[in-house]
Amino acid sequence: EHNQNNMFEPVNLHSSIKKVIGVVSGKGGVGKSFVTAMTAVMFQRLGYKVGIMDADVTGPSIPKMFGLSKRAKGSKQGIIPENTSNNIKIMSVNLLLDQEDSPVIWRGPLLANMVKQFWTEVVWGELDYLFIDMPPGTGDVPLTVFQSIPLDGIIIVTSPQDLVSMIVKKAYNMAKQMNIPIVGLVENMSYVKCPDCGKEIKIFGESKLENIANELGIDVLGRIPIDTEIAKLVDQGEFEKFTCEYLKEASGKINTFFNI
Ligand code: ADP
Repeated sequence: EHNQNNMFEPVNLHSSIKKVIGVVSGKGGVGKSFVTAMTAVMFQRLGYKVGIMDADVTGPSIPKMFGLSKRAKGSKQGIIPENTSNNIKIMSVNLLLDQEDSPVIWRGPLLANMVKQFWTEVVWGELDYLFIDMPPGTGDVPLTVFQSIPLDGIIIVTSPQDLVSMIVKKAYNMAKQMNIPIVGLVENMSYVKCPDCGKEIKIFGESKLENIANELGIDVLGRIPIDTEIAKLVDQGEFEKFTCEYLKEASGKINTFFNI
């Protein structure tokens, strides 16, 4: 029942995952990992069984956000993912390397192979949603990851600047080429909310989000401001404690899209 249009389709024998959603961006630093993690937590709060595969192998940041640093263990069946405090399952190269801060200097094919193993050899168990933090951009590594994992849909994360330069279109075109359904766009760092008066400050000017979504014929799922409180939680490895509901409507839309 997964998307059958990929060139080949490795199978995960140890898991039963209802929907696999890739989170992509045209370039790094727009908050793709942040949006992946926030969406996953929103779904966990709705009562779904959720996992995050950190496929952003060149800058794996998911384990740190959730305060995970233990080495993942293996079993006869495969690699066992780590659990966050609220039972979100996580797999990342950072949970496999001996030293968290050792640079990942492997070349493209090796990286892509590792991600393939995250799919075929991790014992995810039963999940409703597996969110994949994809490598940024549209180069060789993201392309191979696209081809290695049967994605049911993708969410595109953009920043207001990204929209101006239209880098977002590259991510859009890649998904189209691979025949993967696009769930919609999330604009991150849309504005800053003044902690004193609550006023919304649009540091990048008026957003082009609606225009571009219309032009590409895709949905706007939501907007997230720069939030210094959540940035603090990220640094403390306590991301799960956030209380904002920036992605409440977005998670409703995503859920409707997949209808599980
Ligand atoms: P990407 O995955 O696109 O490279 P990240 O998600 O790692 O980007 O975000 C880059 C940095 O910016 C991280 O330290 C992250 O915690 C921070 N960040 C991202 N979005 C927000 C936001 N809306 N508010 C505050 N900090 C953010």
